[in-house]
Amino acid sequence: MESLDAVRASIGAAAAIAGREPQDVTLVAVSKNRTAEDVSPLLEAGQRHFGENRVQEAAAKWSRLRDRWPDIKLHLVGQLQSNKTEEAVRLFDSIHALDRPSLVEAVARAQDRTGAQPSCFVQVNVGAEAQKGGCAVEDLPPLLDLARRAGLDVRGLMCLPPQGVEAAPYFALLAKLARDNGVAGLSMGMSGDYQTAVKIGATHVRVGTALFEDRAAG
Ligand SMILES: *Cc1c(COP(=O)(O)O)cnc(C)c1O
Repeated sequence: MESLDAVRASIGAAAAIAGREPQDVTLVAVSKNRTAEDVSPLLEAGQRHFGENRVQEAAAKWSRLRDRWPDIKLHLVGQLQSNKTEEAVRLFDSIHALDRPSLVEAVARAQDRTGAQPSCFVQVNVGAEAQKGGCAVEDLPPLLDLARRAGLDVRGLMCLPPQGVEAAPYFALLAKLARDNGVAGLSMGMSGDYQTAVKIGATHVRVGTALFEDRAAG
C-alpha cells in the first residue's frame, strides 16, 4: 500500500538520522472518521496498531475486524470521559490521553473490575494552551506518582503541540520531561511532523491523514 510504504520509509529515514532503529517507533494509524473499508487495505498490508478518539465509534468499527485479525492493537488517542472508562479499558490496549487525577482513579477502578490493564501515556499540555487537554507541566510529577501508585501501566508521555508553529521545541520538552520523570515512551508526531518527532525520540507516532488521503489526489 503506497501511503503506508511512504510513511514507513519516512520513519526509517528519520530514525536513521537520529541513530535509532525503525522498529523502536510504533506507527499508530489514526483511523477516526474512517470506515472498516478504509482500514482494510492497511490491515492487508500488515498494519496492526490503530488509533481512535471515540470509544463508541471504535467499538462499532473494530469488534468484527478483531475477529478476523486478532493481533490488532487499539490505541485511544482522544480525550476520555470518566463514565466511558470501563468500556475503554476493555476495548483499548493503550490509552494516550490520561491527563487528570479523576481519570487516573477511574482507570484504576475499571482495571479492578475488568482485569484489563492498558498501557497508559500521560498527556502533557506542552504549549500551556487553555483549550487543550493534558496536564500542566508542573502537575506532571504528582500525576505520574498517583498513576503508578494506583497500579496503572504507565509507559510514557503524550503531547499535541500548538498548531502553526515549529513543533520541535515542544517535542524536545516532552522528551526532557520523560527523562526527568523516568518514563520511556513518547507518543508524539502526527502527519505534519512525525519525522521531526522520530528524530527527537518518539516511540509512538500517531498518523492519520498521511495514511488515508491519497497525496497524489491533493
Ligand atoms: C487526529 C489525530 C491524529 C492524527 O492526525 P493527522 O494530522 O491526521 O495525522 C493524531 N493524534 C490525535 C490525538 C488526533 O486526534
